[in-house]
Amino acid sequence: MLIKADLHVHTTASKDSLITPKDLVYYSKKHGLNACAVTDHNVLDEAYKIAKETDFLIIPGIEISSADGHIIALNVYELIPRGLSAVETVEQIHEAGGIAIACHPYVYFKGCLREAVCSSFDAIEVINARAFPFKSSVKKADEAAKRLGLSRVAGTDAHYGPQIGYGYTEIHAEEPTVESITKAIVDGKCSAHGQPVPIYLNAQQQVLRIRRMVRKFSHRDRL
Ligand SMILES: [Zn+2]
Ligand SMILES: [Zn+2]
Repeated sequence: MLIKADLHVHTTASKDSLITPKDLVYYSKKHGLNACAVTDHNVLDEAYKIAKETDFLIIPGIEISSADGHIIALNVYELIPRGLSAVETVEQIHEAGGIAIACHPYVYFKGCLREAVCSSFDAIEVINARAFPFKSSVKKADEAAKRLGLSRVAGTDAHYGPQIGYGYTEIHAEEPTVESITKAIVDGKCSAHGQPVPIYLNAQQQVLRIRRMVRKFSHRDRL
């Protein structure tokens, strides 16, 4: 069956995200997805919590800060330590039964892997809908996928509900299960789609984030 999934979404378990579990499911459905990966920075708990609380198909994941740049692990059930080299991180992900994705490998302002992208990965995030610069990062990631023979995936790197689904992966999985989806990705039965998140949505996200910070500080002052 055809799975349409955003493979890169952060919830409020990542300090810089505004997406609550409810938002995640609501906007995934609204934007025509039938699955969504939860990929918070270096924590796993929220992903499993959401998966348990909803019947929407959640792919549990984590975005790991390796010494060489950010790496997404999908379908892992234990925390992968941060600060290891890219190759060591991928090894640990595989030992834990997960798949490793080189996310936003050629962008500015994010921890990107660049020359640390290698054939040990299972896939490359060819489209990151919040990548800067968008076009050249897609082109470089696509060339790397071809050179290394890796599967191509896409995600938004969403930190605000309405951004979900601007980057998405179509996966031909045998069944609508996490195991089947990750296997299909490894087998290359997937394709990357999407477009950049519009500037106004990124601006809204920043405004809401600042408002939330101000509220938090003024609340603290009153205590
Ligand atoms: Zn990242
Ligand atoms: Zn991210």
